[in-house]
Amino acid sequence: MAASVTIPKMMKALVKKKEEASYTHEEVPVPEPKAGEALLRVDCVAICGSDIALYKWDDVARVIATVPFIPGHECAGTVVKCGPGVKGVAVGDRVGVENHFYCGNCYQCKHENGAICSNMGQFGHGRKTESGGCSEYTTVPAQYLYVIKSGLDAEEIALLEPLGVAHNAIERLEVKGQDVLVTGCGPVGILAQSVAKALGAKRVIATDIEDKKLELAKTMGADITVNTKNQDLKEFVMKLTDGVGMDRICECTGVPPVVNSTFSMLRKGGHLCLVGLPKQPLHVENVLQDVLFKALTMRTVHGRLIFHTWEEIEKLVSQKKVDVKKVVSHRIPMSQFEEAFRVLFSGEACKILLDPTK
Ligand SMILES: [Zn+2]
Ligand SMILES: [Zn+2]
Repeated sequence: MAASVTIPKMMKALVKKKEEASYTHEEVPVPEPKAGEALLRVDCVAICGSDIALYKWDDVARVIATVPFIPGHECAGTVVKCGPGVKGVAVGDRVGVENHFYCGNCYQCKHENGAICSNMGQFGHGRKTESGGCSEYTTVPAQYLYVIKSGLDAEEIALLEPLGVAHNAIERLEVKGQDVLVTGCGPVGILAQSVAKALGAKRVIATDIEDKKLELAKTMGADITVNTKNQDLKEFVMKLTDGVGMDRICECTGVPPVVNSTFSMLRKGGHLCLVGLPKQPLHVENVLQDVLFKALTMRTVHGRLIFHTWEEIEKLVSQKKVDVKKVVSHRIPMSQFEEAFRVLFSGEACKILLDPTK
């Protein structure tokens, strides 16, 4: 029973204290929830591609994070204590964490778009909170918690955050009855393929440079896979569409030449959504032919729509339309985090889950 939960004084956590690579795994005090905050027992936490930058502490990390912090923004937890004045969640609730801590006061927040808040804090990034999911317990302002209504397990709940990014992109592409090309089979790319199929796409085409990832893509909803190491993608797309071009493209690689090439593969009137994060400037060769005269619809997404996306993806997972756990390639005790990051760097992992209690 929720009421009988005993909360220890100390807990294990990964901590980044200084602007340098790696984390320390140490004993730290269990935080006390302040006004408006809930204390969660972390049931599962997933590592994200963006966590590579935070681990290495590279130039990107300096843009998206601030020391000190506990990493881990893809977090599933159970509420074990509420600070004063908490509304909307109660002890015993199983929750996912919306890691975009919107301010509520900026232009976007006042116009119902807190997901792209101008003064955003970020859970697991040291932005307006030092808390993160790579710890046995964590505090989160209750307004950023999504209470699970169905029977999702902890692993599924932790994966709602990346699934939400995929869903946000695919929903904007209006894929019903359309052919959808998803470039890249990282976790978000594969989840986007699965969501596209669930939302009624005609054919889903997945690309990657590794056959192993394309095999997984096939089991998640991709109808056609293309290994772009062996095959010219534009040629393939034009053949497949009788020279018309692709209806919808969801770009999930962030690799600049791939991003640039998508414009030439879209049909006239096609839709493109950029999800992958390019680290260099983008460039389109034939701007008139491939962009302007095509009358394209181009979208970008950052995070999820709060909480619309959460409601939608919880339904997709609970109704078994997206088997989100298929992207999990490794389950590793948090104390072995160095091994987890080694696997992540090697490129052999899809999604890695950490058990904070071990
Ligand atoms: Zn993430
Ligand atoms: Zn705001």
